[in-house]
Amino acid sequence: MKEESKIVTAGRKFEDDIEIVNPPVYHASTVLLPNAKALKQSDLKYSYGRRGSPASFAFKKALAELEGGYDAVLTPSGLAAISTALLSFVSAGDHILVTDSCYAPTRRFCNLALKPLGVETTFYDPTIGAGIADLFQGNTRIVFCESPGSQTFEVQDIPAIAAVAHEKGTIVIADNTWASPYFMKPFALGADVAIQAITKYVGGHSDLLMGAVSTTEAHLDKVVQMHGLLGSSVGPDDVYLAQRGLRTLAVRMDRHYENALIVAKWLEARPEVERVLYPALESHPQHNLWRRDFSGASGLLSVVLKHPPGEAVDAMVDSYKLFGIGFSFGGYESLAITINPAAHRTATKWDTSKAGLRYHIGLEDPEDLIADLENGFKRLAKGPS
Ligand SMILES: *Cc1c(COP(=O)(O)O)cnc(C)c1O
Repeated sequence: MKEESKIVTAGRKFEDDIEIVNPPVYHASTVLLPNAKALKQSDLKYSYGRRGSPASFAFKKALAELEGGYDAVLTPSGLAAISTALLSFVSAGDHILVTDSCYAPTRRFCNLALKPLGVETTFYDPTIGAGIADLFQGNTRIVFCESPGSQTFEVQDIPAIAAVAHEKGTIVIADNTWASPYFMKPFALGADVAIQAITKYVGGHSDLLMGAVSTTEAHLDKVVQMHGLLGSSVGPDDVYLAQRGLRTLAVRMDRHYENALIVAKWLEARPEVERVLYPALESHPQHNLWRRDFSGASGLLSVVLKHPPGEAVDAMVDSYKLFGIGFSFGGYESLAITINPAAHRTATKWDTSKAGLRYHIGLEDPEDLIADLENGFKRLAKGPS
């Protein structure tokens, strides 16, 4: 089955005796069991609201299948998926390797939660590839990848990293939020565990928070156990929205890609712009890796201006009519923020003398978006107000 067909049908048959297009939404903590004997059964599919509902079983199965994994757990946010995945595979005295380009709260979790528990993190250059072998210690348990980084867009050589990690008996966790499961297949590249912030492209409508940890069969038990110990669960209405978003993922992603490429090429030709950080551009340093490992690019990109950060750049952002100022991405709407990646880097350098901006290219008409950006550059030229 082709990808678009899988996205429409995956997880639909969630019970043997019924098949409907959308799963039912049960608002339930208590599930009534058939008899007293069932109280002693540990393998009941439905036993208590926190352990899942028909909607959550259908959705997590669909998602794991699309990522290329075996099964998944759902968490109340993307960040909770990251913390659950990390906690599943470490204990005191362990060491992990995390890409320097990771989502900033991932770094904070390593430094402020794992470190006090006795787990050391080494942050590594995202472009390290097979050179990561030099950073392994006898106690290294996890290599965490995020490709591309969601502010700086370095594409990682996950197959090369995974080959080294597996040789050393270490697992690879990959945050696949930028590409979504439509444009990148983390397990095919060698990941053992994949993170998805459902909040972003899978949800797709800026109206819910959710995360997922998908795993291979071999690693599922540990993740399910930690997920249960942490008491994570997701509300049935949010699951319903998430699976509804999933069904249109392919058409939305194709349009994000089309629009973002038009806007990225326009930005690249502007005199105000020093660099556009978007893997689908031929000018991107890891464009060939992106070509090899991804089937498309999402709507998220960054720009480095020739201009320094400051009031004139802020005035440009304030002048936008279509680009809202807001964190997050993956909804149907366009967004813009100023960024300072240097604040979250320890293994690699970032030049702070030039202004950085991140744009989410939504589903508006790209000509309207370009007109908005062009007006912004006029505002930039006027300088600080
Ligand atoms: C947004 C994001 C997350 C966290 O998702 P939340 O649902 O906001 O907690 C994790 N990783 C990446 C790459 C993200 O962009």
